Amino acid sequence: MIERERLEMDVVFVGAGPANLAAALHLKNLIKEHDELIAAGRKKGNPLGGLEIGVIEKGAAIGAHILSGAVVDPIALRELMPDFLEQGCPVDTVVTEDGFWYLTDKRTIVSPVTPPPLKNHGKYIASLSKICEWLGEKCEEAGINIFPEFPGAEMLYDENERVIGVRTGDKGIDKDGKPKANFEPGVDLLAKITVLGEGSRGSLAKQLTQRLGLNTDSEPQVFSLGVKELWEVPAGNFAEGRVVHTLGFPSDTDTYGGGWIYGMKNNVISIGYVTGLDYKDPLIDPHAEYQKFKTHPQIAKILQGGKMLKYGAKTINAGGWYTMPKLYADGVLIIGDSGSFLNGQRIKGIHTAMKSGMLAAETIVAAFDHNDFTSKTLRHFEEKVNHSWIYDELYAVRNFHASFQSGRWSALVNSGLQFITGGYAWGFMPKEHHIAGHERMEKLEAYNYKGDAVEQRYPDLKFDKQLTFDKITDVYHAAVAHVEDQPSHLHILDTEICATRCAEEYGNPCQRFCPAAVYEMEENAKTGRREIKVNFSNCVHCKTCDISDPYQIINWVTPEGGGGPNYKGM
Ligand SMILES: Cc1cc2nc3c(=O)[nH]c(=O)nc-3n(C[C@H](O)[C@H](O)[C@H](O)COP(=O)(O)OP(=O)(O)OC[C@H]3O[C@@H](n4cnc5c(N)ncnc54)[C@H](O)[C@@H]3O)c2cc1C
Repeated sequence: MIERERLEMDVVFVGAGPANLAAALHLKNLIKEHDELIAAGRKKGNPLGGLEIGVIEKGAAIGAHILSGAVVDPIALRELMPDFLEQGCPVDTVVTEDGFWYLTDKRTIVSPVTPPPLKNHGKYIASLSKICEWLGEKCEEAGINIFPEFPGAEMLYDENERVIGVRTGDKGIDKDGKPKANFEPGVDLLAKITVLGEGSRGSLAKQLTQRLGLNTDSEPQVFSLGVKELWEVPAGNFAEGRVVHTLGFPSDTDTYGGGWIYGMKNNVISIGYVTGLDYKDPLIDPHAEYQKFKTHPQIAKILQGGKMLKYGAKTINAGGWYTMPKLYADGVLIIGDSGSFLNGQRIKGIHTAMKSGMLAAETIVAAFDHNDFTSKTLRHFEEKVNHSWIYDELYAVRNFHASFQSGRWSALVNSGLQFITGGYAWGFMPKEHHIAGHERMEKLEAYNYKGDAVEQRYPDLKFDKQLTFDKITDVYHAAVAHVEDQPSHLHILDTEICATRCAEEYGNPCQRFCPAAVYEMEENAKTGRREIKVNFSNCVHCKTCDISDPYQIINWVTPEGGGGPNYKGM
């Protein structure tokens, strides 16, 4: 039995993304106001200045695991800190030009008008990783405890299923599960309120949702995978402040997908491609889709003479309003992407994540004021969401992603009509509305594929290491590092399925949907059959495997703290 240190805090935030950092900082601001009002005799109650607030983060530093586009709508940032620019918020540049291109195989159709949801004029292009690093500093200045390299590994419950905190991951366990000389057991962080802001497909949010049935009244979540590179391009190839979104090539019309190019300072561009993880063709490889995107003449011209600087990949929860789980239970709140706050139509979740955090902070102050941390008080979080601009924004696009599950053309008609009618759906939708992506994947035989050779889907794709890169080269540019001598954090619940049913039916799609070459089928010299090999140290923490495996037998858990990609500056 491992003896663990118990640390008593009042509020613990799991994950240092925009949602939780905004929540923690807003909480501190609200507490200050609350205490000042009490001191001035204008409010009754107890001062809350002594509350212990902690933020834990699995990355080696704040921002290390943050990957985004990013065009930032500053609405929430401005509410949090009206003088965010004067306070040094590291935005890169202001959007001065919007564009929307429809790409065919060789041609570019430049839309004369940018669809209103993709108009970004006046918003900010930024590295979200840098913004989080800065927000983390602001939190520390405000007296919030920030703990990088502390993954939340398990939720802690009392005998009444009330959440009482979180257990952080052990350090120094070898690959066979035995303690090494540097073994340090995880800590039990006890808190009156635990806030989960783990981003898309949070591993604790998944555990909690399953255990407490928080998603029984919501539709299945649907996800996309964003694959991104930062490039430095020759001056004049793409203007600073220019934002272009694309539709069409290389996605097929059954697959949700689109590209982006954002012009930053110093001739750096953020370029990437989003592939819906509700695709049907089992040979689709989102990393290959992105590489193919770059070979389009229009895109290749922008990159010509340039140099790839960094790489990253991360999932995006695209389902929106109808896929939102219940956002509270006794002792716990769920915010940001973990709570499905992203606006899929605008491909923006930073502002909604931050606002959800700020509303959570208001709920937390009220809970401490009433000394009640049960659902009775925490349910007010959902009411606050329903009465905020989050509701107005997300409810109006509630049918957006589901309509793409009926194919691109009907979705375009449907989403145009939805825009006019405030989100009303006109049919052309799957009867079940949102369908979980892994349930939509079809078998190899539906496409007459012979085996799992990816060339069947991408016959012309080559990795020339100038314009296009293989996964291993890209992973190198994500600066991924994990301690090698630790148990794999990618748990395959039944590897026999991989070697048999999955190989025959789907050709082991994990080899393709993982954008970091974690999964390989390797011939076992003894048995002569191909078996799964997991290169967990390549993992970029995107969570695609946990989402997309057709048998749902891959469980992503947190590795030793500090391991993973380094997206600093991405
Ligand atoms: C490729 C891509 C492009 C995007 N482009 C845009 C854009 O242009 N504009 C926009 O507004 N939005 C964009 N988004 C969406 C936006 O990035 C997210 O909506 C937003 O970052 C969500 O914030 P969050 O705080 O909920 O989660 P995240 O930003 O994902 O942060 C979660 C943090 O929690 C940490 N964490 C997770 N689990 C644990 C754990 N168990 N223990 C400890 N730490 C943990 C993670 O390491 C991470 O640091 C994009 C997303 C992607 C992937």
